[in-house]
Amino acid sequence: MHIPFNKPYMSGKELFYIAQAHANAKLAGDGPFTEKCKKQIELITGVNSALLTHSCTAALEIAALLLDIEPGDEIIMPSYTFVSTANAFVLRGGVPVFVDIRPDTLNINEALIEAVITPRTRAIAVVHYAGVPCEMNEILRIAQKYQLKVVEDAAQGFMSTYHGAPLGGIGDLGAFSFHETKNIISGEGGALLVNDFSLIERAEIIREKGTNRKQFFRGIVDKYTWQEVGSSYLPGEIIAAFLWAQLEEARSITDKRLAIWNVYHQLLASSEERGLLRRPIILDGCQHNGHMYYVLLPKSVDRQRVIDALARVMINTVFHYAPLHSAPAGLQLGKTSGPMDVTNDVAERILRLPLWVDITHEEQEKVCGSLLRIIENMT
Ligand SMILES: *Cc1c(COP(=O)(O)O)cnc(C)c1O
Repeated sequence: MHIPFNKPYMSGKELFYIAQAHANAKLAGDGPFTEKCKKQIELITGVNSALLTHSCTAALEIAALLLDIEPGDEIIMPSYTFVSTANAFVLRGGVPVFVDIRPDTLNINEALIEAVITPRTRAIAVVHYAGVPCEMNEILRIAQKYQLKVVEDAAQGFMSTYHGAPLGGIGDLGAFSFHETKNIISGEGGALLVNDFSLIERAEIIREKGTNRKQFFRGIVDKYTWQEVGSSYLPGEIIAAFLWAQLEEARSITDKRLAIWNVYHQLLASSEERGLLRRPIILDGCQHNGHMYYVLLPKSVDRQRVIDALARVMINTVFHYAPLHSAPAGLQLGKTSGPMDVTNDVAERILRLPLWVDITHEEQEKVCGSLLRIIENMT
């Protein structure tokens, strides 16, 4: 029995909708399937505008353009994240200012933000790691006090909520990913969420190569022209058709993943009590989406040996981010404020377990049983 780390879920209707897109003979972006996906994401998140993009990376790049990030502007963010959170701003000359994460949720430690704000600070980019919400109330309070923008990298956070508010729609701008490794997928794919009415038109322009093509098609202007700096950030209709098959089932996919997450959580409860590992922590008022189940191994355990031992019994597990602050580009392009003890510690101890929609209870038991035997032999 081979247990892979991830198996992309298919609802079964993907090819049916792709055939429709093919029959529509409208294959570029912003056709009927893009519109359906847009409306559905707006309905789920309550944001004023959701713009489909070809990736979360693209959505973050539009966010940086929308915020007029200029060379030397500082953006506060965690170091424990994917490179795209930082790259989007660095592409505009922005400087990532890395702060440490909370030991419980592994999200940006909001208590460290205020101390690193300078006159150059423009935005706080938060990352909802594993689809578990950041402490948005406090982050929004700080942003308001210092007039900073809040960008949510909600790549992993689709369908999660913070005190009832959908992630991605809480800050000024939010970004989702529909990459194959996320919960709802289209191979590559993403969306930008825009709450602020005053930014919607510019977001549409930036996404369409810097032109007002959308206004042209709406009949608002009689020719479309170059309005500002932009790029091509929209997905084609084949991708949107695939995504539509997934979005239709977003609730049931999320519920299934949550059930699997809860099984892991129960199976590993006693091991946590015995000090063999630490399980994820979800704070009150936070509803996650079952994106990821991870454990933190004891410091004394060599993680690579655990991964290798699990691989020998056909179970694929993986670690996660190499912190950005100490990566070659992070050293060159970013600033690190204060100790990064939690980031460094978590990066070395985290182990992500197989989680996909059709994993069986038996497979989950095998993962937990094997993991515990291996850790016990090492401690
Ligand atoms: C997956 C991911 C991204 C990148 O998403 P793409 O759609 O592949 O561009 C960015 N940030 C985080 C936190 C992610 O997990």
